Amino acid sequence: MGEIHEKTDVILIGAGTMSATLGALLKELAPEWEIKVFEKLSNAGEESSNEWNNAGTGHAALCELNYTPEKPDGSVDIKKAVKINEQFQLSRQFWSYLVNSDLIRDPQDFIMPIPHMSLVEGEENVSFLKKRFEALSNNPLFQGMEFSDNPEKLKEWIPLIMEGRTSNEPIAATKIDSGTDVNFGALTRMLFNHLKTKNVEVNYRHSVEDIKRTSDGLWEVKVHNIDNKTCEYHAAKFVFIGGGGGSLPLLQKTGIPESKHIGGFPVSGLFLVCNNPEVVEKHHAKVYGKAKVGAPPMSVPHLDTRYIDNKKTLLFGPFAGFSPKFLKTGSNLDLIGSVKPNNVLTMLAAGVKEMALTKYLIQQVMLSNEQRMEELREFIPSAKSEDWEVVTAGQRVQVIKDTEAGKGTLQFGTEVVNAADGSIAALLGASPGASTAVHVMLEVIKKCFPEHVLEWEPKIKEMIPSYGVSLAENPELFREIHASTSQALGLGEDLSLGQSVS
Ligand SMILES: Cc1cc2nc3c(=O)[nH]c(=O)nc-3n(C[C@H](O)[C@H](O)[C@H](O)COP(=O)(O)OP(=O)(O)OC[C@H]3O[C@@H](n4cnc5c(N)ncnc54)[C@H](O)[C@@H]3O)c2cc1C
Repeated sequence: MGEIHEKTDVILIGAGTMSATLGALLKELAPEWEIKVFEKLSNAGEESSNEWNNAGTGHAALCELNYTPEKPDGSVDIKKAVKINEQFQLSRQFWSYLVNSDLIRDPQDFIMPIPHMSLVEGEENVSFLKKRFEALSNNPLFQGMEFSDNPEKLKEWIPLIMEGRTSNEPIAATKIDSGTDVNFGALTRMLFNHLKTKNVEVNYRHSVEDIKRTSDGLWEVKVHNIDNKTCEYHAAKFVFIGGGGGSLPLLQKTGIPESKHIGGFPVSGLFLVCNNPEVVEKHHAKVYGKAKVGAPPMSVPHLDTRYIDNKKTLLFGPFAGFSPKFLKTGSNLDLIGSVKPNNVLTMLAAGVKEMALTKYLIQQVMLSNEQRMEELREFIPSAKSEDWEVVTAGQRVQVIKDTEAGKGTLQFGTEVVNAADGSIAALLGASPGASTAVHVMLEVIKKCFPEHVLEWEPKIKEMIPSYGVSLAENPELFREIHASTSQALGLGEDLSLGQSVS
């Protein structure tokens, strides 16, 4: 049982897309800094960032109806949609910078163009979708969106969904061709390969067990080397806890005041994957529907064309479920182990408040495969059970904290939690997730390295030209950036198309 004591500038815990993004940003901003990564699995991007564990949607609010709620006066609030779209534009710019600088190659291996569509049935929903379309149409970020409630047009857009549809309910969809399918697993692996060429030490099969502050103000990380069965101690001036679902238990170990009164609630997911190439060929879009009553926002059903291992495939879901694990590869004791004296009331309050969610999750867990197929048939009436199989997706640990809305409020976004002096930060939560990794990691940089931000700003603007500027308010700049990122990433989109209704 050897003990190794080593010092470095930065330690990144976890080799998911968040650590990859932060590492890649820091290597451009401070190339001389020494960075070490500790990942308990054998490769990068194996947990939530893996292509089979998430839906691969480049979330830009082009199709997700939960980002555009209806206000009490009947109008549609697009503020959140605009914010998420702006955040996705930052990711596109950083990825383009990496490709243009030859730091990563072959963007088609991680990002592909795919129309994003929203689909609804019923008079009320159709009227909501039309209002949403009209509200978004006035914004340059959503240029090119089309609306149709004409079944003939919908047959052109989504033949598989319209085939054999007998319902007389009004139906409508919006479609925008500038959507993307992102293989976050491939992207994460590419980023770690790039980091290795920049002398970042990436240690796989190294599990972080404890984090403590040392007397000289550094953070000491206790690491279990799984292969050697040894214990190592590494110290750093800055630690990023990018453990995905595993971040909360590690944050709790730091003992920083900011880690208190926070809990986590794991929601697991399942997808149906189509194994019939003829069916796969008939569909070409990501089609998002409306969430069921009581369903959490990340359980909106969608039928997605995906590109995985350079092969087109079709996934439907996610079906929510419950498992007490915080990671897919985690332990059944994760949830109970995260309950501490400082967060037990927060957790209990959430349990009482979230009865609708609990009921929904129980119903989802109880679904048989045939019942899941029935849900799929709401999208594809002709779906045959033999063409589809179930795959288990990643775990999402939703943050529970005390907010103005009350004790124990379930949060559906991502949260950066950092020590007041910026020496350690953790990322909690999972939505909108990997798509907005660049925005979230720039937040980490702003919060944790305020003394460097001014000096780094010119480089940040070189990598992300719209940094600090609202693209929604600068349509010309948006068009320019959209065109250059489309070219760099091989997305070949044409924004000259105007909005249309048919
Ligand atoms: C079902 C589902 C669908 C989703 N769909 C989308 C989508 O369509 N679009 C989108 O943008 N986002 C989506 N997301 C969210 C997205 O997948 C996550 O936000 C993102 O992958 C999180 O990246 P991460 O690096 O924080 O975590 P992860 O990718 O989970 O990486 C964390 C890493 O830390 C390691 N680790 C944990 N604890 C330790 C420890 N103690 N020591 C060492 N290593 C440790 C883990 O092994 C893992 O490799 C989805 C998520 C799920 C679950």
